[in-house]
Amino acid sequence: MTGPLISVTGAIALTRHEVERSTHLRTDPAWLAKAWDNPGTRVLVIDDGQALARIDDAAAELIYVSPEQAPDGPRFLLGVDFDEVPYFGVGGPLPRAADESAAPTLRRAGLREAGTLLTDRDAGLLTHAVALANWHAVAGFCPRCGAPTTPEMAGHSRRCTVDGSEHFPRCDPAVIMIVTDPDDRCLLARNAQWPARRVSVLAGFVEPGESAEQAVAREVREETDVTVSSVTYAASQPWPMPHNLMLGFRAQATTTEIMVDGEEIAEANWYSRDDLRNALLAGDLVMPPSLSISRWLIETWYGSKLPGLAAGRSSR
Ligand SMILES: [Zn+2]
Repeated sequence: MTGPLISVTGAIALTRHEVERSTHLRTDPAWLAKAWDNPGTRVLVIDDGQALARIDDAAAELIYVSPEQAPDGPRFLLGVDFDEVPYFGVGGPLPRAADESAAPTLRRAGLREAGTLLTDRDAGLLTHAVALANWHAVAGFCPRCGAPTTPEMAGHSRRCTVDGSEHFPRCDPAVIMIVTDPDDRCLLARNAQWPARRVSVLAGFVEPGESAEQAVAREVREETDVTVSSVTYAASQPWPMPHNLMLGFRAQATTTEIMVDGEEIAEANWYSRDDLRNALLAGDLVMPPSLSISRWLIETWYGSKLPGLAAGRSSR
């Protein structure tokens, strides 16, 4: 071991949160109306997956507006904090920075850019708001009959105005897995779309009628021809880009010969901890960003933060 083990709790950037979702209030119209009339209510405006943020190299802070300042657009309750402050999200054009020359660090940012730099409160609110805004942006018409739908449940569902069918936010499960062999080497691969030296663990979508564990075994086999057993769940992370839930697994290989598919995966190799450390220190490999659950899976196998990389706040 080269350092302390990373704990599961709080280690994955987009699983951090602080504001209670207050689901019971979504069906309380009197409370919702009062909260929207309250100038102290904070509204996070989302446009194309981004919010206005004050952002620099070390930290980021979301900019909220009052309900009065919020644009027209799909509105959804995000929750209520410890001080009873309600938080809403609204899809629409972002507020303008009052004086951009006085606030050069104020700009639009999405989860990829700001996810690890935000506080727990803001990381949770932005993840929740982006997921719902992405869904509202494509859920305006009924998938059954094509008629318009209207929001219900404080923006957490929509109902068809003609046939009355109710529709909920969509979330597509994907599996992401660290595969180890009997010598405890891990399998890292380069996607054919990625630049040279960039590697990560394998991942893929869960297909209809398939369990997550079956998807792990199928994807590993398809992409590398390696057979796995003992597929165990590790942790998950919402990934609303646009609407995924990443399910992290660990799997043990029962075969070690690699044959990549050549289409999705360009190359794959087994790495011992020493192999990985040496490759990173030599600059021969680039790891996935600290925002990702893939980085977390690799570091929990490795036993500490990876060497030769900038520290990310997602690991605290
Ligand atoms: Zn309909």
